[in-house]
Amino acid sequence: MTGNRITWQDGQYGVPNDPVIPFIEGDGIGPDIWRAAQRVFDAAVKHAFGGERRIVWTEILAGEKAHRETGEWLPEATLEAIRNYRIAIKGPLTTPVGGGIRSLNVTLRQVLDLYACVRPVRYLAGVPSPMRHPEKLDVIIFRENIEDVYAGIEYAAGSPEATKLREFLGDSFGARMAEGSAIGIKPMSAVNSKRLAAKAVQHAIDRNRSSVTLVHKGNIMKFTEGAFRDWGYEVARERFPDQTIPESEVGKGEARDGKRVIIKDRIADSMFQQVLLRPSEYAVLATPNLNGDYLSDACAAQVGGLGMAPGGNIGDGVALFEATHGTAPKYAGQDKVNPSSLILSGTMMLEEIGWQEAAAAIVRGIEGAIAAGTVTYDLARQMPNATEVPSSGFADAVIAHIERG
Ligand code: NAP
Repeated sequence: MTGNRITWQDGQYGVPNDPVIPFIEGDGIGPDIWRAAQRVFDAAVKHAFGGERRIVWTEILAGEKAHRETGEWLPEATLEAIRNYRIAIKGPLTTPVGGGIRSLNVTLRQVLDLYACVRPVRYLAGVPSPMRHPEKLDVIIFRENIEDVYAGIEYAAGSPEATKLREFLGDSFGARMAEGSAIGIKPMSAVNSKRLAAKAVQHAIDRNRSSVTLVHKGNIMKFTEGAFRDWGYEVARERFPDQTIPESEVGKGEARDGKRVIIKDRIADSMFQQVLLRPSEYAVLATPNLNGDYLSDACAAQVGGLGMAPGGNIGDGVALFEATHGTAPKYAGQDKVNPSSLILSGTMMLEEIGWQEAAAAIVRGIEGAIAAGTVTYDLARQMPNATEVPSSGFADAVIAHIERG
C-alpha cells in the first residue's frame, strides 16, 4: 500500500488523505498494545471519514527488535523516517538502568529536537480513581524535553572527570562539594525554555484555555528554574502581548478575565498540592524537564493511572506520540495489559494532523467500553462487576462502541 508524506510549511502541517505514518511497536508489552491500538485507529478513521481517508502505516525499528534485526538499538534509518514523514507513534522501549545503552526515548527526543513533551491529563467517565472528584483535574502539561538534568552531562563518583570538575569549581569559584562526589550538570537555556513556554501559551490561546502556569523550583535554583519562570513571563509578554496577562495584574485566584490567557507561576512542591486541592484552577502547565516528569505521573495517577495516560513529543514540524508507561516486561506477550495509553496518544496524533473527528470517535469508544465494564485487568481489579478482557478484547469493545456511533 502506498501513501503520501505529511508536509510542513509556515508552521502548518499539510496532510494528504492517505498519510504515511511510521510506527515503532516497542519492547515488552509493546507488540500487544500496538496490535490493539492500530485496529482502533483504523476503525476510527474509517468511521469518521468513510473510505475517504486512511493511514498508511509503515514499521520502523528501535529497541530490542532493531537490535535483533540490525545489530543497532536505534538505526539511523528510523530517525530518517521520522524526520521524513514528520508524524510517528511508538510503544514503550526498554531502558537498562545504570550503564549500558543510553535511554532510547531521551535520545529520540534530543536527536529529533522534540522539545515539548505534551501530556493531557483528564478524567474519562467510569475510570476508577483514588480521588473523590477526579473530573476536576483537566490539565495539559508541556514539559521541556531536551535539557535540564536530562541533558546527560553526568560524571560518576571518583571518575577523573568528576574529580577534575570538583577541583576546578572549588579553585575557580569557591564551590565546595564532598570529596568523591558524583556530579550532574543542569543546563537550562533561554532558547529552549522560551520555545516550550511559547508552545504552551499558543496551545492555551488556540484551545481557549484559561491559564498557563509556569512550574519551577526557582526559590532554590535561582539561575536555572528561576530563569525558566522569568523567560516564560518574558515570552508571553513579547510574543503574545494582547492575548496574555500576568496573574499579578488580575489579582490572585481570579478566573480568566474573559479574553486573555492568565500567566501564573507556582513553586513545584506547591504545585503538587495544588493539583490535589484546587485542580480546577489550572489548565495548562509549563514545566522544566525533571519537574514535569514527576508532575505528569502524579497527575495521571489522579485520573486513573499510567495505563490510561497519553503523551506526545512535539517539535516544530516533527512529532512522536507514545505510550507514557514502560515495557512492563512481566506481561510481555500475554495480550493482557491496557492499550489505552497508546490509543489515547493516537488521539493526540490525530488531533495534531487535524483529524479531530476520528480522535473524538476514539474517546467515545473508550468511554463506551469502560462504561460497559469491558476493561483490562488493571481497571477490572478496581471496578466491581467489570468483565476482564485481554488487550485485543478491549480493542474489540472500543471498536464496537466507535461503530455504534
Ligand atoms: P512499567 O513498564 O511502566 O510498569 C510498571 C507497572 O505499571 C506494571 O507492572 C503494571 O502494574 C503497570 N503498567 C504499565 N503499563 C501498563 C499497561 N499498559 N496496562 C496496565 N498496567 C500497566 O515500568 P517499569 O517496570 O519501571 O519499567 C520497565 C521498562 O520500561 C524499563 O526498562 C524502563 O526504562 C522502561 N520505560 C520506558 C518508557 C518509554 O518507553 N516511554 C517509559 C517508562 C519506562 P502492575 O504490576 O500493578 O500490574
